[in-house]
Amino acid sequence: MISKMRGWIGWIFFLDMLNGLALTLGYMFSRTITMQYPDKQKWQPYSRHRGHHFLKTNDEGDLNCVACELCAKICPCHCIKVVPFEDHKGNRRPSVFDIDLSRCLFCGLCEDACPADAIALGQVYEMASYDTSDLLVGRDLLRTIPGKVEKGGTVVGAKLIDREGVHVRETKGEHDWWRRVWGRRNKAKVRLRTHHT
Ligand code: SF4
Ligand code: SF4
Repeated sequence: MISKMRGWIGWIFFLDMLNGLALTLGYMFSRTITMQYPDKQKWQPYSRHRGHHFLKTNDEGDLNCVACELCAKICPCHCIKVVPFEDHKGNRRPSVFDIDLSRCLFCGLCEDACPADAIALGQVYEMASYDTSDLLVGRDLLRTIPGKVEKGGTVVGAKLIDREGVHVRETKGEHDWWRRVWGRRNKAKVRLRTHHT
């Protein structure tokens, strides 16, 4: 029985290896595309991407957060600070909710631990800075950061704005990155691949 299982496991790993090699070979013969980031285009990550944190709100516009501090406790970098208070409706909310992104691992543990579906890591990845104090983000900013993308894995139009510091704004236009890389002949494979990502 054990040797049979070993055989199956070996086959599974062997097939995985072949799959990996086929993907590598496929890339060797795929088209090379240079994305004109950030002047004209930018990558829209998949919904599983763990980018800039954001705080969710309910229908009344109040934060979902009940300031239980579980996210702060579970954070391996101790980069979340929550200070609770009671609002005028008698609900426990955060008066302070700071995240020091310069120390964050983007592990997503805070999102997993949250019992109120209040915090998540979203689509925004443009947060590099020369000054780490820019990376200390507070409650009010966190509630304005865009959430997760519904449909990622595409390239969208973009425009670089450098008057008020470097800022990339999305513009109209979107295309399927994988279709351009692999061409029409491999559309079925592409669909399969994007489905799994
Ligand atoms: S993503 Fe991880 S490291 Fe970053 S704040 Fe959340 S728990 Fe901490
Ligand atoms: S974000 Fe979630 S885990 Fe963190 S304090 Fe608020 S309710 Fe608690």
